[in-house]
Amino acid sequence: MQTSPSACISIDMDGIGCYTSIHGIPHPTTPHSPPDPIFAIALERFLALFAELGVQATFFCIGRDLEDPTHAELFRQAAAAGHELASHSYNHLYNLRSQSRSIIRDEIERTSALLTRISGERVVGFRTPGYNLSAPIARELTSQGYLYDSSLFPCPPYYAAKGLIMASMRLTGRRSGSQMNLPQTLLSPLEPYVADPDRPWRPAAGGGLWEIPMCVVPGVRFPIIGTSLHLLGGHRFRALMPTLAWRHRSLFNLEFHGIDLLDTTDEGVPTQLGAHQPDLGVPLEQKLNTYREVFTALRERYTFRTLRDAVLLLDRSR
Ligand SMILES: [Zn+2]
Repeated sequence: MQTSPSACISIDMDGIGCYTSIHGIPHPTTPHSPPDPIFAIALERFLALFAELGVQATFFCIGRDLEDPTHAELFRQAAAAGHELASHSYNHLYNLRSQSRSIIRDEIERTSALLTRISGERVVGFRTPGYNLSAPIARELTSQGYLYDSSLFPCPPYYAAKGLIMASMRLTGRRSGSQMNLPQTLLSPLEPYVADPDRPWRPAAGGGLWEIPMCVVPGVRFPIIGTSLHLLGGHRFRALMPTLAWRHRSLFNLEFHGIDLLDTTDEGVPTQLGAHQPDLGVPLEQKLNTYREVFTALRERYTFRTLRDAVLLLDRSR
């Protein structure tokens, strides 16, 4: 039976501390600091937007954040509303791919256990921090029975920008918590594929772990993720839709971050962060309007599904 192609919206729930770490900004927290706005503000905004538009999404959660009962309760509500909870590792180590096998195993196992306790369901999806996938991570996901990974970002402009930022930080004596990705991951296919466990950026002949790359514009490889949609605007996204749909026939993987629904006026957003994350300067209402336009354009060609449901459909049709 022919099924409609899937549009999968996912949100990486990186806390504010992940951004201050990338940009080398001090971020002292005290008992009187306001709660992290990613959980206290942005998560509820995403849930309200999805309820309004009838979207079921996938939240990639960092294990250590789930130890906080308030956060765990918010994600329990998200799961109860039909959204998928997937793993974004336990400590969000940007250099996870350089860690020992036992650390990689532990980062994945601990987060699976926490998420299963919250949702009551087995966790089947993973996204590595900083799009930084490697063969040891893919092999560990396979051995822990994961259905899919969604980590690769075949986007040379992103890779070049990340390299430039890290180099300029080194020159000015600031330390970034980030790590460059393996360049061969830029060569991955744009469509979902079953990954070769030894070279997960290449397809394999048999069954195994699915890889679902982030969406880019074919040819120029401009990134299509929540943050770049502010630059593009809803009307240009709509104009690009035929080109995007041509190279994303079975599944459109649109990635957001929790920070995409915050702006500089929100309590708990460090003032210094605005200088490094210009998208924080875009007013919330403008972002919401862009996203509404994008979701409406997607709905004309795709059915919204969680990544888990979309990959299960692909798996059955192989
Ligand atoms: Zn992340």
